[in-house]
Formats: sequence, C-alpha cells, structure tokens
Amino acid sequence: MTAMIAKETPARPHAEILEGRTAAETIKQEVAAAVATLKREHGATPQLAAVLVGEDPASAVYVRNKIRACEEVGIASQHVTLPASASTQELLSVVDNLNRDEAVDGILVQLPLPKQIEDATIIEAIDPAKDVDAFHPMNVGLLALGRPRFVPCTPAGIIELLDRNEIEIAGANACVVGRSQIVGRPVAALLLQRHATVTVCHSKTRNLPDVTRQADILIAAIGRPGIIRGDFIKPGATVIDVGVNKITDVDQAREFFGSEAGRRIEAIGKRGYTLVGDVHPAEADRVAGKRTPVPGGVGLLTVAMLMRNTLQAAQWRRGF
Ligand code: NAP
Repeated sequence: MTAMIAKETPARPHAEILEGRTAAETIKQEVAAAVATLKREHGATPQLAAVLVGEDPASAVYVRNKIRACEEVGIASQHVTLPASASTQELLSVVDNLNRDEAVDGILVQLPLPKQIEDATIIEAIDPAKDVDAFHPMNVGLLALGRPRFVPCTPAGIIELLDRNEIEIAGANACVVGRSQIVGRPVAALLLQRHATVTVCHSKTRNLPDVTRQADILIAAIGRPGIIRGDFIKPGATVIDVGVNKITDVDQAREFFGSEAGRRIEAIGKRGYTLVGDVHPAEADRVAGKRTPVPGGVGLLTVAMLMRNTLQAAQWRRGF
C-alpha cells in the first residue's frame, strides 16, 4: 500500500488569545461562595466603600463597574462622591470616617484625584487594614519584603491569569516594561517572589527591543498604543498587555488590527474611538505564543481581584 502524503499549506502562526473573562468569572464565583459562607456562619457581610472625587467620565465608569461587581458577589458597597472642587481636608475627613466605620472593610479612593489634592496624602491616610488597592506604604513595603498582605489588583490579576493558564513563572525570564507604583513595580516584585528572573524597563532603557526579546513572559504597562512591536517579542513568548489606550484614527486601527480591523473601525464610527493596548496586536499575533487582548484581558481580572481583596480584608479584620 502506498502511503498518501497530504500536501498541507502551513498555517499562518497566530498567538493563542488569553481571555480574561473566564478567569475573572471563576474568581468572582469563588469570592461569592466565600461571602455566602461568611454571611451564613457569622452573619457578617463584607463592605467596600468607593470614593469618587469629581466627574471624570472614565473614573466614574471604573467606580460603577466596581460597585456592580460587589452586587454580583454579595459584597455590600457604598459610593461616596465629592465635587471636583473638594479640598484635601474634606477628602481626609471622608477617609477618616470610613476608617472608623466598623462596617466598612475596604476603602478605595479612585485615582487620579483633582490636582489640588496630593494622591500620596490620601493614600497614606487610609487604614492599611482596609487598603484594598494596596497602595499604602505599609502594604507596598510588605510586598517588597516578600510578605504581601494586600496585593495591588492589576498585578495580582496578571499572576492569576498566568497561573490559571498554566504558564510557568519559576525560572522564566520575565520582562516588565513600566515601573509605576500601580502596575510595573508590584508585578515585578510578585514575579520575583515566584522565582522568575525579572528585568524592569522604563523610558530610559537603552535598546528596549533587545531587552524585551529575551523575555519568556513580557508584560507591557506603558500607556502608549502599540509600542511593543513584533520585533520586541521572543518567538513563542507569553505577552501580557496591560495598556488601555484610545485611538480615533481609522488608518491606525487598520494598521494595528490587520484583518480584524473591521469591528474596530465600526466602533470608531459609532463612539469615536476604539481601545488598543501597548502591544501591536497584529504583529504580536505573528510572533508571540500567547497574548492577552485589549479589551477583554487583564482589565477584567483587576475588578475580580478587588473583590477578593475586600473579602480578605473582611476575613482578617473580623478574625474569621
Ligand atoms: P504610568 O504611571 O504612566 O507609567 C508608565 C511607565 O511606562 C513608566 O514607568 C514609564 O517610564 C514607562 N514608559 C513610558 N514611555 C516609555 C517608552 N517609550 N519606553 C519604555 N517605557 C516607557 O502608567 P501605569 O499607571 O502603569 O499604566 C500603564 C498602562 O496600563 C496605561 O495604559 C493604563 O491605562 C493601563 N492600566 C490598565 C489597568 C487595567 O486594569 N487594565 C490598570 C492600570 C493601568 P518612566 O518611569 O521612565 O517614566
């Protein structure tokens, strides 16, 4: 018998897309089950207080999403709003009341604050035991020491996404581009704690593509649309795109999204913009092994991790 050898056209490489939705839903279900147990066994309902100063539309959407997630998992919430003209003293007084309110387990003050108020003054006024965003210097210090109590939500979500997709962190070369307090630095600390070999890049890094190309796990937290091009990526690497950038130009959308641009161009027509991460999606798809999409990737995990931090705050504060 003569074996027939089929002539196959080699498939164009395409990175596997790491959706955030499934992991986020699973985490929220786990939190909901634990919240239900707290209520049943101890009669206790965790509570999150979200403080919004001013009317920045993006911040208002973020706070609304967090309140909605609380409803989904059974966490009580209160939404405190202050006008954009609020003074540091007024906001400190709100934080002080929430610190002293026994029913409140978690406090988040949505950033950025109006320019007359220093973020650091407010962050440092939050009771570290209720600091579910984990920005207080005490929680930052514990994380740096490798003994985290609360972990900032986006970095914690990135680690969950890697773990739940069975991407090995120990021993991997991990490169984080960006060194903000909110994402870059804490995610680098977490990766180091999990035994990755970690490089942190920033705006002064020389020959950025040469550095990022060494990474098995590449994390982009920069805030510049599509800056991480195909030649920044090691073939087969896992690329986590934290950036959320609005683009309004149809040609730019075509360039970033290639054959998948149609939907994005439609979005620009309808609402004036579409979202792109810090990673060039069409180029990354040809080189990376796996990548997270924007939207629908890391962002969904962030809110889920806030729910988990609020649950943990309630468990620790109330001694359960
Ligand atoms: P950030 O505070 O503005 O920090 C940006 C970092 O990128 C800085 O460390 C900066 O370096 C570095 N950088 C800027 N230009 C660079 C370049 N050309 N090459 C290399 N590094 C460069 O930003 P962030 O708060 O970390 O946020 C980053 C992005 O993530 C934004 O798009 C933000 O919207 C998004 N984000 C998403 C979530 C989510 O849940 N999905 C959460 C938080 C943030 P220097 O330190 O040298 O200035």
